[in-house]
Amino acid sequence: MANYILTLKEARDVAVGTRLFVFDKPEGYVFKAGQYVAMMVSKREGIEPDARGFARSLSIASAPCEPELYFAMRQGESTFKRTFWQLAVGDTVTVTKPVGFFVLPPEEDTRPIVFLAGGIGITPVRSILKQAEYEKSNRDLILFYSNRFLEDAAFDEEIRNIALEKFRLVTVLSKSKDACDLGNDERGYICEPLLKKYLGNNIMNCLYYIVGSPQFSSAMEKILIDLGVPKEQRHMDPFTGLRAVDQK
Ligand SMILES: Cc1cc2nc3c(=O)[nH]c(=O)nc-3n(C[C@H](O)[C@H](O)[C@H](O)COP(=O)(O)OP(=O)(O)OC[C@H]3O[C@@H](n4cnc5c(N)ncnc54)[C@H](O)[C@@H]3O)c2cc1C
Repeated sequence: MANYILTLKEARDVAVGTRLFVFDKPEGYVFKAGQYVAMMVSKREGIEPDARGFARSLSIASAPCEPELYFAMRQGESTFKRTFWQLAVGDTVTVTKPVGFFVLPPEEDTRPIVFLAGGIGITPVRSILKQAEYEKSNRDLILFYSNRFLEDAAFDEEIRNIALEKFRLVTVLSKSKDACDLGNDERGYICEPLLKKYLGNNIMNCLYYIVGSPQFSSAMEKILIDLGVPKEQRHMDPFTGLRAVDQK
């Protein structure tokens, strides 16, 4: 599989303990919104290699219409994460070509799209929403975005400002007790009554896109299975290797 060298342009925090890494997009690097890559970093002086090595799967957080490649990650203690957090502008990493099927069907499929995103699982959803905005999509799009606190929610403001008439954001905060005036602001976990509240009679007719830690993904899948939503309407992108935040 052909690999590509990416050069870091910028790194900045986009939520508590969460960093966005912006890379130059190589000429001819074509991907679909929602896809991911295998990302490789080089061994670095002073960082002892661990058993998990130097490569991870990472979703592309930018949209195909955007000029750069974005990747966002929660901070961690692994060799891979510590190496990433030490990268300086101008340093390089290696990625494979994009892969994965967490992509929207053609616009002719008019079923409402429901994203169930947990934490850093927002990365492929950001890509899909920014591309939909660019294409002035007429789809019904609704995102249930689950975090512990609002400050954990990467890209929150940007997503709140997505300029699409038929896009709705439901902010779901599991640990926050603060009052915040965000419109669709929910507390606790994503659950069946919450989906019913926002999806109403459409609930069985939607296409569901689940993304987050394996624990989050299984919990969301169970809700949909219990509801009787057919497998064909459930798309999963479990971030294998990602620990659920509540298990910290
Ligand atoms: C398709 C896909 C897309 C993804 N996209 C993103 C993304 O956009 N952003 C993102 O942050 N992550 C993403 N991930 C997850 C990512 O690949 C990493 O697994 C995750 O970020 C954790 O990396 P880490 O280096 O911090 O921890 P890791 O070293 O990968 O460890 C993860 C967990 O496993 C435990 N662990 C590690 N090694 C062992 C072991 N030998 N035995 C038992 N337990 C062990 C650790 O304690 C930790 O809890 C994606 C994963 C997939 C599959």
